Amino acid sequence: MTHRTPLPSRICPACDGFASVAVTSGGRDPRGHLRTLTAHCPTCQGTGTVPARRVREGAGA
Ligand SMILES: [Zn+2]
Repeated sequence: MTHRTPLPSRICPACDGFASVAVTSGGRDPRGHLRTLTAHCPTCQGTGTVPARRVREGAGA
């Protein structure tokens, strides 16, 4: 009873698909805009998905 997932890629387990997030640093720039830092997930490098093979390797341990 093997459950196989035919999808070529899967949602990144590290960021749950939210590969890029804007983080407010609490300040505003001189023009009054919120200062935000964009952080990309290092696991999927901002794509939100990882190859299924890579997930298998990570989950095998
Ligand atoms: Zn990710």
